[in-house]
Amino acid sequence: MPKGLVSETGDLNSQEEQPIPARRTFPAPPQVSAAVPSADRAAALQLIRDDIGDCTRCALHTGRHMLVFGDGSPAARLMFVGEGPGADEDAQGLPFVGRAGQLLNNMIAATGLKREQVYIANIVKCRPPQNRVPEPEEANTCSPFLFQQIDVVRPEVIVALGSTAATYLLGVKSSLSGLRGRLHACRGTKLVVTYHPAYLLRDPRQKKEAWQDLKLAMAELGLSVPSR
Ligand code: URA
Repeated sequence: MPKGLVSETGDLNSQEEQPIPARRTFPAPPQVSAAVPSADRAAALQLIRDDIGDCTRCALHTGRHMLVFGDGSPAARLMFVGEGPGADEDAQGLPFVGRAGQLLNNMIAATGLKREQVYIANIVKCRPPQNRVPEPEEANTCSPFLFQQIDVVRPEVIVALGSTAATYLLGVKSSLSGLRGRLHACRGTKLVVTYHPAYLLRDPRQKKEAWQDLKLAMAELGLSVPSR
């Protein structure tokens, strides 16, 4: 695998968060759609899922077992966005159900929220081979559906998990360190950038920093976190 193409999702032995590929383009994101009443959000999400169908829009479909649409409350105030499904997610059709998912569950629990109260999705909905970083064409083909999901759920805060999520949600390529620790905007919603849980499994020393990021997100929601 070429240097720089190791995904945050995979290669748990790698010591550092890997850079994302330099060559990428960011098409203009679709306009933010009108708000959907909370009671209609589940149905609106189902319409997006129906539109995606048995997707063959990019090459990732060839290795897919299950498409991973998203999980959680359609009226969540907090949304987490990762990179793309790994092997466990591909087998179960749900985001963040493997080792990184266990850590994400623990992170969510530490905030005092339950996983069912948040919404979780990824930049791409099909597993990249060998958990590589999604190619720009794959991410750009798939992310408009994620944008639609964001518009329906209308979270008050989005947490971008890792640089792939941050890159495609913000439409800029920047180092994670340059993006963490402050608020960004995505589709009219506040966005906080933090480390991908798979990276935190490789380098648990950064968990303290990730906790600061989650506290920033919770403060924006006006929610206090349980004392630890
Ligand atoms: N890593 C991701 O980015 N997403 C998942 O759903 C699982 C692992």
